[in-house]
This record gives sequence, structure tokens and C-alpha cells, in this order.
Amino acid sequence: MAMVGRSFSLCCLPSQAAGACPAKPTILRPSFSAVAPLQCHPPTHRPRAPSSFSFSFSFFRCVRGMARSDNGVSRDGQKSFPLSSTCLLKLQRGDITKWSVDGTSDAIVNAANERMLGGGGVDGAIHRAAGPELREACWNVPEVRPGVRCPTGEARITGAYRLPVSRVIHTVGPVYDIDEHPEASLRSVYRNCLRIAKENHIQYIAFPAISCGVFRYPLSEASYVAVSTVKEFADDFKEIHFVLFSDDAYSAWLEKANEVL
Ligand code: ADP
Repeated sequence: MAMVGRSFSLCCLPSQAAGACPAKPTILRPSFSAVAPLQCHPPTHRPRAPSSFSFSFSFFRCVRGMARSDNGVSRDGQKSFPLSSTCLLKLQRGDITKWSVDGTSDAIVNAANERMLGGGGVDGAIHRAAGPELREACWNVPEVRPGVRCPTGEARITGAYRLPVSRVIHTVGPVYDIDEHPEASLRSVYRNCLRIAKENHIQYIAFPAISCGVFRYPLSEASYVAVSTVKEFADDFKEIHFVLFSDDAYSAWLEKANEVL
């Protein structure tokens, strides 16, 4: 995936300027354009007229198939693993903004920053697809300290607006080279997302590869933390998905799921 302008700034909070510097800086994601091949097609809420049969076929297949395949590899490239007798782990390549199951009990997870007002990477894609209402909803999430609505490792939930899912769960992953305990922080990310999803009666949830972009968590380590942590919630959901944007991320998750599950 080619990215433009992938740099981020370390930003001191007002309290830092006053001398009370917290242990970790707030990292603001820049807005930047992600140039990537889309594996799915326009969201259901504002479909464009298909220009060809192949467009129409793949649009149909993507929207329905991303969430409904049999065990094993489906025609959409989904791979399923049983986490329990009632819960499947599903891996697929794709764009998480296009993912949905039923629009009522499904949620996607956003790799946000602590301000929760949008940024680059998957955060930018989700905000663009959800529309300005999502930023407004995030704005209304109370700050826990100046400029921080969601501290690293925690999760917050909002509506999804123009996205095809019912809710967006915002979380902040650790910056691999800065966080003192990146594995513990990443485990907290997954646990807190799944806890808040459960509290809100979500049955189907999809994660991107949190911290594996700008925050530079190695894919092999991140996929181990992700797969082994979501397994703890096997009795609480019908399906837990990972929607992985790059072939490398998909391969890492697939390898780890085959090892761990
Ligand atoms: P972080 O700062 O947590 O690393 P990023 O957004 O930079 O978050 O990247 C997290 C992961 O999300 C990366 O693997 C990136 O390739 C992936 N990603 C980016 N856009 C999308 C998208 N639309 N759908 C799914 N995953 C995405």
C-alpha cells in the first residue's frame, strides 16, 4: 500500500508545557491520503451505478460474502477458524469500511488516536466513509484529560452513521517503539474493544491490524497478540473478524491463527 506523507508529530499537552510531563506523549496522526487497491466496492448506503457486469458481480459478492462464508476458504478469500462451538474467527483481506453483517448487531474497530477526531490510515478511511457525523459524535465523547478522549489501550463506542455497520469502536493501540509494554497495551486494546462490544450487544465485530501501520508494531508479534487475545472471548460473539488491508498482514494473521487455534 502506497502511503503519502506518513509522518506523525509528538505533541505535548498543555500540562507538559507547564512542567507536568506525562510518561508518554500524545501522538497525533496526520491526515494523509491512502492510495490502495480497493478490494471491495462502494458502501451500501450510497451505491453507484455499476459500469459493468464484473463490477456488479464483485460488489454483490463483496457486500454479502465478506460476512457470510462457510468454514475454510470461501470464494472471497475468507478463512474461518472455530473459536468455540458458537463463535468463528474469520480472516479476510479488504477494506474495513465496506464490512458489515446485519447493520444492527455488528461493529468495526477503528485504530484511532487519543484525541479521537480523525487522522490517517484506517482512522481517516473510517471517518471519510462515515461522514462528518462521526467526528461530531467523537467530539462529544468526554475528555479524560485535555486532548485525550481515549487513552492508549482503552476503547470508546459511537454510532457508525454512513457506514454499513451499526457501531464504531474506537481504540488507541501502542506505538511499538515508544510504549514501555507494547504487548500488554495491545492486549488491553483487544480486551477493552471486546468488552465494550459485549456491553453493547454486538455479535459480530471486525478489527483492522491495530498498531501495524504508523505505530509500527511487527506483524508477526501483533498477530499473535490479536489471535490469542480474541480467543478469550469465544463465548461472547458469533463472529470475530480481522479485515486486513495488505497481503503481508493477511499472511501473518493466517500463519498465527494456524499456530494458535
Ligand atoms: P496504527 O496507527 O494503529 O498503526 P494505521 O491506520 O496506521 O493504524 O494502520 C493500522 C492497519 O490498518 C495497517 O495494517 C493498515 O494497512 C491498515 N489499514 C489502513 N486502511 C485500512 C482499511 N481501510 N481497512 C482495513 N485496514 C486498513
